[in-house]
Amino acid sequence: FWIDSVENENKKVYLSPSEANHLKVMRVKLGEILTGLDGKGNIYRFQLETISKTGATGNLLSRKHEYHDGKSLIIFVASTKWPRIRLIIEKAVELGVDRIEIFNSRYSVAKILPNRLDKFYSVMREASKQCLNTYLPELCIIDSIDQIDHSNSLNLLLDFTGSPLQSLSDSIASSKNVRILVGPEGGFAENELKKLHQFCLPVSLGKRILRVETAVIVSASFASLQMGR
Ligand code: SAM
Repeated sequence: FWIDSVENENKKVYLSPSEANHLKVMRVKLGEILTGLDGKGNIYRFQLETISKTGATGNLLSRKHEYHDGKSLIIFVASTKWPRIRLIIEKAVELGVDRIEIFNSRYSVAKILPNRLDKFYSVMREASKQCLNTYLPELCIIDSIDQIDHSNSLNLLLDFTGSPLQSLSDSIASSKNVRILVGPEGGFAENELKKLHQFCLPVSLGKRILRVETAVIVSASFASLQMGR
């Protein structure tokens, strides 16, 4: 379950109204011992104390902190329609991605507005709970390639003409920060590609044209494993 806050000198945990509703749907009983996450590396054990429309509370029994490995796996992906974008976000969480940059490309079929991010965060929390990912990724919208801070990362552009992704396994394993850039359904625009080629290494996932979500899943799985996630 998702923990909103811990208070009362670390003795009580608070859960949101939607988590309280989730507890009801799952028929969890007062007094049950549960596991909670907060997306900041903490794993809580708590005993459920109250459930109401305004939220739920529990008595904190223990807290364990899982340290982050200090590496960063970033997925830069062109925006796309729901439910495709939902799948991308969910799988990125499962694969241990630290940051999802959603790019409103010229050729994106659906532009994402900042007011959609709440919905995306809720997908990320659900995915984190399911796979016990203790760190919630960062999520941001990028409107121009110039906004990417690419200076300290190995930037891999998924491109049919590139060298095979697996040929970069050693570079990925030894890099602290890895960014994978995936184009939109219609491909990147000419001027976008020109800018991307200035700081990215083109890499290929084979000769077949993969859907955006497949390209994200394949490349993030590979990088995540190489980075020891
Ligand atoms: N017609 C588009 C084009 O020619 O670029 C197809 C775009 S594809 C559906 C979406 C994105 O997934 C591409 O821009 C690319 O970044 C990535 N992608 C898909 N298949 C790939 C492959 N076999 N190798 C490398 N990247 C791939």
